[in-house]
Amino acid sequence: MLDYHVHTEYSIDCKIPMAVQCEAAVAAGVTEIAFCDHLDHEPSDPGYGYYRPEAFFASIAECRERFGDRLVVLAGVEADFNERIADDVARFLSHHEFDFVIGSVHYGEAGQIIFQDYFDDREWDDVYLPYLRRLKLAASSGLFDTLGHIDLPKRYAPQAKRTYDPVRYKDGLQELFEILIRERMSFEINTSGLRQSPKTSMPGPAIVRWYVEAGGTLITTGTDSHAPQHIGSGIPQTLDMLELCGIDSVSSFRNRERTQRSIASLRPSATVTTGA
Ligand SMILES: [Zn+2]
Ligand SMILES: [Zn+2]
Repeated sequence: MLDYHVHTEYSIDCKIPMAVQCEAAVAAGVTEIAFCDHLDHEPSDPGYGYYRPEAFFASIAECRERFGDRLVVLAGVEADFNERIADDVARFLSHHEFDFVIGSVHYGEAGQIIFQDYFDDREWDDVYLPYLRRLKLAASSGLFDTLGHIDLPKRYAPQAKRTYDPVRYKDGLQELFEILIRERMSFEINTSGLRQSPKTSMPGPAIVRWYVEAGGTLITTGTDSHAPQHIGSGIPQTLDMLELCGIDSVSSFRNRERTQRSIASLRPSATVTTGA
């Protein structure tokens, strides 16, 4: 199993040491883990200025030393993105050697982070159409290996505005897929939605199916875990979902080079049944 979206104490919203996450990954049957702490360049973000690359890379080296015989430990990052900070993100990435880079849009207008209250005076179209526009900019920026949680607003939509109909945004998603396919870039299946209010992955199967119909084949899988008990969670179901949608492999990375791994090879090994 590949869990390519895990947070540690180097994210402002996580207190868990990397080694604890590695232990949990081994116990959960994860074979490759990409630590992707938040890299926030938007001054309004609570995580602005929090990221410490030297400490992060030192911790990666320690975990490789300690767990390397059981677990592939990858240096990833979840880089925030919008049009105001694109140059800052590019500059940062050009100075650090990651294995894997997620580009995530967490912001709406004027650098405001999309949480529940962002929906107070907005309808779905007001939130998601600009969100899609930023995803397209991220996809064409050439900065990232995969796009994070491409329908994130559904996680934060309040109950009264919960109705999220991806069909309404199919045209915009098709445009996004065209860019992704042209750039040979992926998006992730973020399983945190399964544990939280949407009760479906981000994105869910309808969107994956449209991507496949458009000719897309490149997907990454990640739990967005901020707690050790969530590492690997929802990944086996996601592999089933991907196969049903027509995807037969998942992307793996080293030094930002992509290779495809067959889903059959990524399933947790079958349990051996002993005689009665
Ligand atoms: Zn995120
Ligand atoms: Zn995350």
